[in-house]
Amino acid sequence: MALLTLLNSRSPLADPVEQRAMLARLALARTFGGAVSATGRGPLLASDVSVLQMNVGKRCNQACRHCHVDAGPDRPEVMPPEVVNACLRFLETSRVDTLDVTGGAPELHPLFRDIVTRARAAGRHVIDRCNLTIATLPSYADLPEFLAAHQVEVIASLPSFAARQTDAQRGAGVFESSIAALRRFNRLGYGVEGSGLTLNLVTNPVGAFLPGSQQALEADWRRELARRYGVTFSRLFTITNMPISRYLQYLVDSGNLQGYMDRLVTAFNPATVDGLMCRFTLSVGWDGRLYDCDFNQMLDLGTRAATPHTIFEATTAALAGRPIATGPHCFGCTAGNGSSCGGAVG
Ligand code: SF4
Ligand code: SF4
Repeated sequence: MALLTLLNSRSPLADPVEQRAMLARLALARTFGGAVSATGRGPLLASDVSVLQMNVGKRCNQACRHCHVDAGPDRPEVMPPEVVNACLRFLETSRVDTLDVTGGAPELHPLFRDIVTRARAAGRHVIDRCNLTIATLPSYADLPEFLAAHQVEVIASLPSFAARQTDAQRGAGVFESSIAALRRFNRLGYGVEGSGLTLNLVTNPVGAFLPGSQQALEADWRRELARRYGVTFSRLFTITNMPISRYLQYLVDSGNLQGYMDRLVTAFNPATVDGLMCRFTLSVGWDGRLYDCDFNQMLDLGTRAATPHTIFEATTAALAGRPIATGPHCFGCTAGNGSSCGGAVG
């Protein structure tokens, strides 16, 4: 937990402009736009918005090594109430059926429970991207009960079912706390077949390689988590580490940046293009600015010209069919079986 954020350690890569410049300087075999066009599906356009993803801030009780948000206890950014209201108004007055709440640790937001309650009252499906350890802190001890009472889908990060790998990526003691939280969720019915309460787990590789087959890994995880800890879950999502923020810093520090990017480019899979999450997601930053996805948000790559740029002016009609802002990092979503906030896409 003592890992420093890029901002706090004064790394040049704390600046998204520097991250984009570093990726742009790499000599890659093809551009992302060129790769998509070669499939006959370019330029990449959004379809209708069906998911509103609110990033309510960068504060987190953890400071994981690979965090694409550069989140941590020292980050002050928190979505102000007027932006929260604008997001909920957009949700309530549109046909967008899913609210995906992320951060940082979204539960740290002072209005987190109001956000969930209002979205559920409007009949929307709500996802909480939970780091698990938050539920073991005394002030958040009733979080699982609150989420269960509102039928919130929980998507929880756990890089590995082995303690050493998880702690290496997320901090000492995180694995043990995560298992304690998973057991509490299970006791409420989360991840238990027939309960109606969904608990999905997310794993991402601990090093500079692509995730294995989601189906095969899910079978391993189901067996091992049940055998070792008596823990059950609904689905396992595999996510490719995006070459941005703290993972980009790791790639630079370990001398793996060019090799990793070459691997992503070589593994470009045309079958992933139609299912890319930017095609149906609208991402809102803590300050209300709009992005095509959470990764673009962290690179400060806003929605492109001629589309709404803040949630205050957003309408689904104006956002449908918009051109998506892309860059070399996008190869992280199209490599192998593909990667999104919902796991493999290919
Ligand atoms: S990866 Fe998630 S839990 Fe870890 S620091 Fe980032 S936001 Fe927090
Ligand atoms: S990084 Fe974002 S914009 Fe790029 S392909 Fe992935 S989801 Fe789409």
